[in-house]
Amino acid sequence: MMETRVVRAWGDIERDRSLMEEAGRLIRNGQLVAIPTETVYGLAGDALNPASAKRIYEAKGRPSDNPLIVHIAEITALDRIVAGIPENAEILIKEFWPGPLTLIFKKSAAVPPETTGGLDTVAVRMPVNSIAAEFIRASGGYIAAPSANASGRPSCTTAEHVYEDMKGKIPLIIDGGEVGIGLESTIVDLSGERPCLLRPGYVSLKRLREKLGEVDTDPFIEGVMDENAHPKAPGMKYRHYAPKGELYIVRGDPESVRERINSLCRDGKDKGIKTAVLASDETADSYRADIVRSLGSRQDEESIARNLFKALRDMDNEGADLIYTEEFDSADMGMAIMNRLIRAAGHKIIDCKRKEQK
Ligand code: AMP
Ligand code: MG
Repeated sequence: MMETRVVRAWGDIERDRSLMEEAGRLIRNGQLVAIPTETVYGLAGDALNPASAKRIYEAKGRPSDNPLIVHIAEITALDRIVAGIPENAEILIKEFWPGPLTLIFKKSAAVPPETTGGLDTVAVRMPVNSIAAEFIRASGGYIAAPSANASGRPSCTTAEHVYEDMKGKIPLIIDGGEVGIGLESTIVDLSGERPCLLRPGYVSLKRLREKLGEVDTDPFIEGVMDENAHPKAPGMKYRHYAPKGELYIVRGDPESVRERINSLCRDGKDKGIKTAVLASDETADSYRADIVRSLGSRQDEESIARNLFKALRDMDNEGADLIYTEEFDSADMGMAIMNRLIRAAGHKIIDCKRKEQK
């Protein structure tokens, strides 16, 4: 088995120089390196090398029809990999790059089909994280980097999470501490007639509409699960983020949610099952379960986003069999948070009002 080293980076060009040189060498040789970004940790390979894309799919155990996002460090790097830059893209790039927004373009011939899962479009992002930017520069400028988790598991927000999933599979993990945002980038498709949101993230639909006017939304975002449907972001159809225990979202007014969750936990306890609740600072005290975990204050939706994936991983480490979570339908990031939770729960939602289980 390959030895996996975890090396701390500081976001300082001088101090990180030899680490970046080593990482860049690995990438140019077709190897993989895990890196911090502002959203989640990424598993990086050379985006223009088909062999690297294959290695990424292998290390993640990811289906190879699920395309990778290409990461760049300068806006001028875009020209080489896209067939053209539409006006809408110029507007969004000016406003949100570098940052947690991925844009989909028609691709140029420079990008191998292995990187784009056979599609004629390419997803591109320019991270703001300075360690990621230095790494991309040291690696030749075009990095394919999906989230560094093993396929299906919650994305990684710390280098320790990456080590859990990638130990023995990649030579190097660059540790940049805990990420700032904690949810993957917003994805907007600009390759069609109208802009379309494919995955919600830190950059909200509201902000996109303020800049572009109308923006469509892919029905898969809301969790439509039709066997025959094809989400525009192929990744949205796969089971993702799921903890090992059964996770249910409990929906309704706070009082009913509390009663229902406590009653379900009592039932679970009677059967000798280990129960857990994902709550908020405002509500955590009112639950009776084996594990009660607050994701943060409802007044601070960014903290909830940042803690979500770690909390889901912790459920596995603590051996939770049955997990109930509140809804987190906040104003800005609510759509992004609920999109991840709905998929982590495999669409299992308990609606307190209608007293039925879907
Ligand atoms: P991850 O790398 O784990 O953040 O996931 C990347 C997401 O971007 C997946 O859901 C992919 O399906 C989606 N994606 C990447 N490239 C494209 C593309 N060219 N068109 C549509 N979706 C894409
Ligand atoms: Mg992912």
